[in-house]
Amino acid sequence: MKEWLRSLPAVHELQNHVKFHNLLDESQLSLSQLTKQLKAILEEIRETILHDQWSGAVPGTNHFIENVFTILENKVKQQFAYTLEKVVNATGTILHTNLGRARLSENAIQHVVDTARNYSNLEYKLNEGQRGSRHSHVESLLKEITGAEAAMVVNNNAAAVYLVLRALAKNKEVIVSRGQLVEIGGSFRISSIMEESGAKLVEVGTTNKTHLYDYENAFSPETGIVMKVHTSNFKVIGFTKSVETRELIRLTSGVEDVIFYEDLGSGALYDFRKRGIGDEPIVKEVIEWGADVVTFSGDKLLGGPQAGIIAGKKNIIDQLKKHQLARVVRVDKMTLAALEGTLIDYARGEEAMRTIPTIRDLLASLDELDERSKAFVTNLLQRTSRYQATIFEDSSQVGGGTMPDVLLPSMVIALKHDSFTAEQLARKLRTESQPAIVARIQKDEVVLDLRTVSSEDESFLLDAIVTVDPS
Ligand SMILES: *Cc1c(COP(=O)(O)O)cnc(C)c1O
Repeated sequence: MKEWLRSLPAVHELQNHVKFHNLLDESQLSLSQLTKQLKAILEEIRETILHDQWSGAVPGTNHFIENVFTILENKVKQQFAYTLEKVVNATGTILHTNLGRARLSENAIQHVVDTARNYSNLEYKLNEGQRGSRHSHVESLLKEITGAEAAMVVNNNAAAVYLVLRALAKNKEVIVSRGQLVEIGGSFRISSIMEESGAKLVEVGTTNKTHLYDYENAFSPETGIVMKVHTSNFKVIGFTKSVETRELIRLTSGVEDVIFYEDLGSGALYDFRKRGIGDEPIVKEVIEWGADVVTFSGDKLLGGPQAGIIAGKKNIIDQLKKHQLARVVRVDKMTLAALEGTLIDYARGEEAMRTIPTIRDLLASLDELDERSKAFVTNLLQRTSRYQATIFEDSSQVGGGTMPDVLLPSMVIALKHDSFTAEQLARKLRTESQPAIVARIQKDEVVLDLRTVSSEDESFLLDAIVTVDPS
């Protein structure tokens, strides 16, 4: 061991090596930056030798020097690699929260790129040559699509809920059904947000049943809001009763200074019901029924960027826009660009809406998925004999805490490798392929659901599976 430690090369020797010079040119690092990394590597190797764990070449040999430079090269590469990277989602879960929820439409992407690259009229009225409002860019589209008198956009729906409660019900009572005190994604609880906002929560009913009279009995002079929360990520089944939005609107509209507010969660702009998918109301309906204000996410069923959209009566939205908190939760120009791009797809009509990946993936038919899966398996088996592949009917989930009870019928591919277990194969696909591939494991098989794989990514997915073990 001592022999090895003595044989470790000096830093200045390695600095004279041709590989060091090459790396200095290629990496565009400064001499001191690269030297610092080299020193760190030598120090690590020294530690490893001291702990009797060095498994590389023997120090003092040329081979050892090569080892050191390989480690250095990899380190330099890693240092500037993005940690936020593209992933191919082969799980079939469309709004996979861990994988970034909605993918944007081409229209939205292009608008983001242009907006990022250039100056824009973000807060500037070109006609008047005067200061404008960033809300203006999406407000008219939102009004058109939802039918609301006014609208604004904040950072996400959690921020929207907070802003509404803080601005409209601070120190006032907010009546909510116990069945709707939901927790979303483990970090967002309606009851905690309400506490933070300074509004006083008045719980009514029970977990499974709340009646109209429960709300009526809870009214007091302190009541500011009757709130309904979309129970996005769970479904109470069996002996249940909740009060319809319309009934609550009727109830509150008769009481002066009490607002009806619904946190819609997902906020569908596309009517998935007409395609037989779920029973999510569209935002326009809820506005038409007379809700004073609603909030919803930009990156759930809407299929746009992370954002919180607030729509409703003009006097309420005006109040929210003016509130100090609006500045704290305001959206940036890239989000506005992505949202404007997406909303224009909605405004253009059915065909353009289908270019929004979330909508396209949700509507993909069983036949289409069957055809794609069959072609995929045929190609796969032509290129390698290391897999057994079967196609079977399964279901995809919407995800993102949306439509929890909806299972979309799908045709999926189950893979069995001749030497790797399902865990090993899934791991290789995640860590060794570029971009990474995330798939499901079911009954010792890796299951691919092409619903969430774009056709451009399909050939890539195929290559990755074929070359997962080139030996
Ligand atoms: C998802 C959700 C939220 C949070 O929305 P984000 O945009 O993720 O911040 C709030 N309320 C409900 C009912 C939701 O489903």
